[in-house]
Formats: sequence, C-alpha cells, structure tokens
Amino acid sequence: MDANCLFCKIAAKKIPSKIVYEDSDIFAFEDISPQAPTHVLVCPRKHLASLNEATAEDQALIGKLHLVAAQLARERNLLEGYRTVFNNGPGAGQSVFHLHLHLLGGRQFRWPPG
Ligand code: 5GP
Ligand code: ZN
Repeated sequence: MDANCLFCKIAAKKIPSKIVYEDSDIFAFEDISPQAPTHVLVCPRKHLASLNEATAEDQALIGKLHLVAAQLARERNLLEGYRTVFNNGPGAGQSVFHLHLHLLGGRQFRWPPG
C-alpha cells in the first residue's frame, strides 16, 4: 500500500466508495464521475502506478483485471458492447496513478476515443 494513494485508501476502506467486487488480488468500485451508465474501475490491490510499472511477475494480475471486468459486464448484461480502458500517463488522460481498468457500458461508444 502507498500511504498517499487515493485508490490504496479506497482498497483499505479508509475512503468510502461503492465496491462492486473484491477478492484477495483485486477490488472494483463505481467511478465517482461516471462517463456511462456502467463505469466501474477494476484495480489490483498491489500498488502499480500504471501499466508502465508492471513486469512479468504481474502477468496473471493484469489478465485477471480483464476477466473480472468481463464477469461484471456479463452480470450487467452489457454484452451488446462495452469498453475496457487503461489510461497510461497524463498524455492519455491518467489522473490517478494507481493502475485501474475502466469498464464502461450501457451506451453507444465512438471510435477513435477522444
Ligand atoms: P484516470 O483519469 O486516471 O484514467 O481515471 C481516474 C478515475 O477515477 C476517473 O474516472 C475519476 O472519476 C475517478 N475517481 C477519482 N477520484 C475518485 C474517488 O475519490 N472515488 C471514486 N469512486 N472515483 C474516483
Ligand atoms: Zn495505490
């Protein structure tokens, strides 16, 4: 845990959030500023600032983030179309530097994203 990290504090329940999934590796919670009817952030408990800090030892964890997102999408009947996104670095719009997979669904998406 990084004592100064917002999402580590959410994982530790020191900051309240609407947690929708958790296990020993991963926690997922509703985004405070949803950009779609479903907007969940799926995070590793391990503090990694972004994908740039992930190494081979994190391979299973990175994969599991996606499988949890797919499970949540199934539970929410989003199979018509949903999006999973990692923003990596400020140039890609990352604002919280604890790795998180955005799961967005429940509306039509355009491509390319902004
Ligand atoms: P990023 O811009 O880093 O890809 O995504 C960060 C996300 O975290 C944003 O969508 C933002 O709305 C969300 N967020 C920021 N602070 C909080 C918070 O305190 N609680 C929750 N639930 N979401 C947050
Ligand atoms: Zn963290």
